This record gives sequence, structure tokens and C-alpha cells, in this order.
Amino acid sequence: MSACSRCDAVCCRLTVVVQPEDRIPAHYTTRTASGLEVMARDGEGWCVAVDNARMQCSIYGTRPQVCRRFAMSGPYCRDLQADYRDRNARGIPLVLYQEAP
Ligand code: SF4
Repeated sequence: MSACSRCDAVCCRLTVVVQPEDRIPAHYTTRTASGLEVMARDGEGWCVAVDNARMQCSIYGTRPQVCRRFAMSGPYCRDLQADYRDRNARGIPLVLYQEAP
């Protein structure tokens, strides 16, 4: 799989830390116990900005910087897709989205 159009936006289940320069409407975000502003997630773990009908980002043009830096088809992307397939689309660990060193 090498295109977002054929993926259920599994990267959009990762924790996305909102950066000060991001302009994300407040109703899409929440704060962690430690005070970080992050994209809020729904009951199944997907970012609330996901358009569930199309499984695409509904704020793509203004998405957070962290999302813009995610490397499509990179090793992390492929690992997430494999986990998603192997675990039957539910229950993948929700981990902090980190930039490559
Ligand atoms: S803002 Fe958009 S690209 Fe980023 S996690 Fe949410 S739905 Fe995905």
C-alpha cells in the first residue's frame, strides 16, 4: 500500500501534538494531563478531524505541522499499516507521534 487514498488513515490514530504555529479550531483539540494541546480523538481512537465517510482529513489544508511532516509510505507508515491489518483494524497502540531524528 503506498497511497493515502487506499489507507484508512491509520496514522490519524497517533497522538498529534499541536504546535504554537498551528491554527486548529479549538473544538478539534484537547489537553493531556500534562498540559500538551493535542488533536482530540473519537471513541475508537481516530482524530476527530477525520472525515469518517471518506477516511480522510477534513482539515487537510490547515492540518497540524506534525501531520505535514509524516512520511507517507515511510517505514513508520508501513509499520502502522501492518499493525492495523494484523490486528483487524482495532486495538493498535496509541503512541506519541515523534519526528525522525
Ligand atoms: S489533523 Fe488531519 S492529518 Fe492530522 S491526525 Fe487529524 S485527520 Fe489526520
